[in-house]
Amino acid sequence: MSRITSRKIGDYKITIMNDGGTEFGFDLFPETEEEEIRSLLGNPEQSVLPTRFNVCLIETGKENILVDAGVGSEVFGPAAGHLPEAFEETGIKPEQINKFVISHLHPDHICGSWDNEGNPVFENAEVILTEEEYNFWTNDSNFDSADESLISWRPLAMDFVRIYGDRISTVGTTSDISSGVSFHDLTGHTPGHCGIRIESEGEQFLYTSDLLVIQDILLQIPEVSFALDVDREKAAKTRLACLDMLATDKILFSGGHIRGPRICNVVSSGSGYQLEG
Ligand SMILES: [Zn+2]
Repeated sequence: MSRITSRKIGDYKITIMNDGGTEFGFDLFPETEEEEIRSLLGNPEQSVLPTRFNVCLIETGKENILVDAGVGSEVFGPAAGHLPEAFEETGIKPEQINKFVISHLHPDHICGSWDNEGNPVFENAEVILTEEEYNFWTNDSNFDSADESLISWRPLAMDFVRIYGDRISTVGTTSDISSGVSFHDLTGHTPGHCGIRIESEGEQFLYTSDLLVIQDILLQIPEVSFALDVDREKAAKTRLACLDMLATDKILFSGGHIRGPRICNVVSSGSGYQLEG
């Protein structure tokens, strides 16, 4: 089974690479009845929420840009950590990555970027993330009364900051990363969480990272309170606005947790949305 899917966006080649997956519990939706979750899943027997961990590779012809690095096999178990196999399928080697862009510092986006000895996998890359994200995770006072998941994940974010050290550059939430490649502000999931927008020859693509961590639920009720969003109210507003934009402007998209790997469109469906294409 292939772990990648590719598509041309203008002159650029986009590849979504799958690192593996895991299952979460219904407690990710603390304000939603279990019965409603099962009904949205369309399966009265289901008691888990399956998700996938993806990474996005952008080949511009001049640069190889990697967005996120998957989770590795430690944090969410051995069903993940398959990014090296996905890389083999692309024909690009990790040392050929010129820019390593981080959507946010949650473990499922960074832990695949160092080996068992703590050495960086993307040894020749400049690392780019938003200033908001960097400042959030490196400031002790943000963790005095934070959720348990944030407190337990912080050491991994700090490992990342230490391992990549002075190769990290911080920029704004709408800054350019390369010609035709820029951050797209999707803050709320974390304070500096961003998607990546690609525009080439009149074509557009948006990598939405963690806009839809559990696609089965969040597409249907994007306004719902989702436990892994740091600012739940803001994240819900961001999700609604982004899904509306993707559907209205018919922008091709993929994300950090979309099953497939898949590059597709979002279309309205009832009071929510569904994937198409
Ligand atoms: Zn994620």
